[in-house]
Amino acid sequence: MQVTVNEVFKSIQGEGPRTGRLTVFVRLSGCNLKCEWCDTKYASKGQKIPVQYLTAMISEYRWLDVTWTGGEPTLQQKAMNACMNKLWSYNHHLETNGYYLVNPDKYTTVVVSPKQDQWTSEMLDYYKLYDNVYWKFVVGSSAEFEMWDRVVVAHNLDRRRVFFMPKGETKAKQRALMKPIAEWCVVNGFNFSPRLHTLIWGKKRGI
Ligand code: SF4
Repeated sequence: MQVTVNEVFKSIQGEGPRTGRLTVFVRLSGCNLKCEWCDTKYASKGQKIPVQYLTAMISEYRWLDVTWTGGEPTLQQKAMNACMNKLWSYNHHLETNGYYLVNPDKYTTVVVSPKQDQWTSEMLDYYKLYDNVYWKFVVGSSAEFEMWDRVVVAHNLDRRRVFFMPKGETKAKQRALMKPIAEWCVVNGFNFSPRLHTLIWGKKRGI
């Protein structure tokens, strides 16, 4: 079986509930959405390699936390599952836009980041049943924050598992949005996520 991979690298997790934790990132190629503000447009490209080759690359890092990201990694669910089955003793974390539903029990954590106009009630009502699923809403204005706040209320999502993160792929954009979004989070009872790697390294994801 083959898998199309954009990059594999070790870094700290910059977003969501595991911010600051060391992990091996596996960025699979391709995405079903085309968000204008996407910070990983380069993930549309990739190299096709055998799954066993990817498995060997991951194990060379000798680190037991793996974060599957993209693009949209669930587009290559079969290959991802085959690799995870080989690396069964690892902690696997998934970052997804939520469009394709997967079984969260296969992962240690799942971070679902629904996109405006692309989320569905089915997606929210399915994933909210799992304690290891977190929500990450990426916002750039108070209007966007309020829109997602209404969605959280309407679908009765557990606020302890909801993170709001500033939009923006540069340090300057992150800095400009961090304070108002952090303050909205405190006032409205949500978690805040920085985009830590951007604050540290700019557009790069690590060293
Ligand atoms: S869903 Fe994520 S990876 Fe896909 S285009 Fe949107 S921001 Fe980029």
